[in-house]
Amino acid sequence: MGTLSGARIAVAGAGAFGSATALALARAGAAVTIFDPAAPGDNASGVAAGMLAPASEALFDPLSAPHLALLRRARDLWPAFVDGLDIEISTGGVRIEGEADWLAEIEARWGGLGQTCSREADGALMLVEDWRLDARKTLARLHAAAADLGARFEAASVEDFDLGALRLSDGRVERFDHWVVATGAGARGGALAPETAALTPIKGQILRLDRGAVVGPVVRGAGVYLCPGATPAVGATMEAGRDDLRPDTEMTAPLLKAATALRPELAEAAATIEVGVRASTADGLPLVGWSAKPGVMLAVGARRNGWLLAPLVAGLVASYLTDKDPGLDAARLDARRFDRELEA
Ligand SMILES: Cc1cc2nc3c(=O)[nH]c(=O)nc-3n(C[C@H](O)[C@H](O)[C@H](O)COP(=O)(O)OP(=O)(O)OC[C@H]3O[C@@H](n4cnc5c(N)ncnc54)[C@H](O)[C@@H]3O)c2cc1C
Repeated sequence: MGTLSGARIAVAGAGAFGSATALALARAGAAVTIFDPAAPGDNASGVAAGMLAPASEALFDPLSAPHLALLRRARDLWPAFVDGLDIEISTGGVRIEGEADWLAEIEARWGGLGQTCSREADGALMLVEDWRLDARKTLARLHAAAADLGARFEAASVEDFDLGALRLSDGRVERFDHWVVATGAGARGGALAPETAALTPIKGQILRLDRGAVVGPVVRGAGVYLCPGATPAVGATMEAGRDDLRPDTEMTAPLLKAATALRPELAEAAATIEVGVRASTADGLPLVGWSAKPGVMLAVGARRNGWLLAPLVAGLVASYLTDKDPGLDAARLDARRFDRELEA
């Protein structure tokens, strides 16, 4: 592309949004610096299950249901976005298991969204369209790909951006043309950009087990999902309004119980709790685009779908910065849509 050639762009946050955005901007020729005080993967993106799952999100998250078509478009961007990066996308789908009445209710809910799913011989429902990736491996590959294109990583927190001056928490000031705020739940409160006052935290706890399926589809049951892998994941809590990273077995016990109901052999598993904090808007979609604050671009508020949405968000940011048509989904993700609602 090369249309950002010579532009100096700072990205705050090396999670799914910041890392994908940094790569898209580096591909467009920008000189990118990514600031993040945390160790790589030590964020919501690192603990995530890595599902790229428009169908199950629309089925199990009421806030995501109206966005099914957008979520599908986001998923479809993944293969081209990571082409050549050695990132494996598992296309094993999602198998939904449970009592017959509950499965009938789920099927009816899916039908209400104008969709049909297949039934397995044992009665389980199958959503073949949902994909999955390994979150931590993918973060590492995105960082490596951005670094190969000249992106620089700095272990520092960004405090402010004013007329091209980016102020870091260690007191340094560096000059940039633009600043992308991709700070996840760290952006709340409007301190970095006024629009982020629209974000609220949702704490998420996920269990990593020492046994369970290594490959195969994700399995969903009532109130739980089981994700295969080297350390199979059982997720996840949605604790609205909480932003602490304290493991809390009282909240995770129901997950383990539900997992064991699906796979009794997991009763013997040793579980490690991982915690992340998601940032959410009231409509469940992120804030993407120009802030009212000059030179500041937002890519925050990923809620439950930061991985799924990452290439879409990265592409939007690159389009805005290169003055290209941001496309079909830009208006629904517009970073200032909640301010405009207040102004109306
Ligand atoms: C348990 C759990 C399971 C999940 N499963 C899935 C899933 O299967 N699929 C899916 O799509 N999504 C999933 N999600 C949601 C997904 O993880 C998030 O939506 C996504 O990771 C958010 O990415 P992000 O880049 O916006 O934020 P984060 O990953 O939180 O990254 C933000 C980064 O910004 C840094 N930062 C903060 N403040 C500053 C500052 N001032 N300066 C510089 N850096 C700063 C932080 O240190 C952090 O590293 C899950 C979330 C949780 C908690």
